[in-house]
Amino acid sequence: MQIIWFLAGFVGIEVLATLIHKYLMHGPLWFIHESHHRPKGRFELNDLFAVLFGGIGVWLLVSGSLAAFDFRFWMGLGISVYGGVYFYLHDVLVHRRAGKAKTPEWAYIKALRHAHRMHHKHVNKLPSESYGLLFFSWRYFREATQARGAKA
Ligand SMILES: [Zn+2]
Ligand SMILES: [Zn+2]
Repeated sequence: MQIIWFLAGFVGIEVLATLIHKYLMHGPLWFIHESHHRPKGRFELNDLFAVLFGGIGVWLLVSGSLAAFDFRFWMGLGISVYGGVYFYLHDVLVHRRAGKAKTPEWAYIKALRHAHRMHHKHVNKLPSESYGLLFFSWRYFREATQARGAKA
């Protein structure tokens, strides 16, 4: 059962973040999120969202572990692992915030970077696309696998 709660946390936070990104960050909270579309320095006001999501994960981890490691602990673990994966894919591999990093030659990674770069093609609040990170349009994945076939 724990694995179900773990996956619920992992997938749930991607879905929640996608909705928040689409309807709030590119909506009334654009004044915060704008700093991610027009970065000026090492840190962005938008990083507050990472702190917020991280806080939800930690809160679940702590309250779950105080209650004999109930479902909250496993959800919190899923959210925290997601946070690590998100940081690696989004901040390290797409935005290169940790300097040069070796990028795996996987079609999925290529497609994810392409999809997120398409999101950043837009520097204004609207319109934009590809609001999720791990889930994106099938079209990018198809393109990435075709490009690989053409090269081979
Ligand atoms: Zn955005
Ligand atoms: Zn981004």
